[in-house]
Amino acid sequence: MNNIWNIVCNIYCYLHNYINNIPRISLLFNKVKLPLLCKWEEVIHADQNFTLEERAIILHALDDLLFFCNGLIKLQIIFDLDSKNLSFIDYNNTFIRADSSLHSIENADKRAKNNIFGLCEYKHNNSIKTLYIVVERIKTYNEFKTVVLHELGHALYMGHTMKPSIMHAYNYDDIAYLTYADGLEFAKIWHINVQDLRYLKLYHNYLNA
Ligand SMILES: [Zn+2]
Repeated sequence: MNNIWNIVCNIYCYLHNYINNIPRISLLFNKVKLPLLCKWEEVIHADQNFTLEERAIILHALDDLLFFCNGLIKLQIIFDLDSKNLSFIDYNNTFIRADSSLHSIENADKRAKNNIFGLCEYKHNNSIKTLYIVVERIKTYNEFKTVVLHELGHALYMGHTMKPSIMHAYNYDDIAYLTYADGLEFAKIWHINVQDLRYLKLYHNYLNA
């Protein structure tokens, strides 16, 4: 039975690489008893330079994240950021459409010894976050969406996880949705039970063992 879930979820993730914005099939996600009480509410100001298509993908990723969180988090993304307004960026949660020549991206490349796709910087005792996505390095819809989901996960203080998960440091595009491994990380940070989250049921039985 466990293997069947994994095969079906793997096929679903595979299809996701070829079909943009494939609907969530609720059968493949953990069923929750009740919505969680909201613990945290925040706004992210996103770059006005994001194209209409990119904005749509970002909002799809946000929708997936909020579905996973089951009510615990209320997060809003508003596309009203002037990315040249550095003092605003210093004191507000922001999401920047970045060039690879940007100072923060060049430094992160050096640290990672790799060309990074996205980044989340924390400021002021971790209360303020700046997210970046390096659009020129991203080739597909699904890659874009999973990088956005990954950085939003960091904005909710999630760290890196083991595969198969969105929060794996090098997930890129092979896992389409937040999985049980992501659920364990999120539940640890936010002091809740993983069973209260709507994660994709990929390897949830193996990891449980
Ligand atoms: Zn990361």
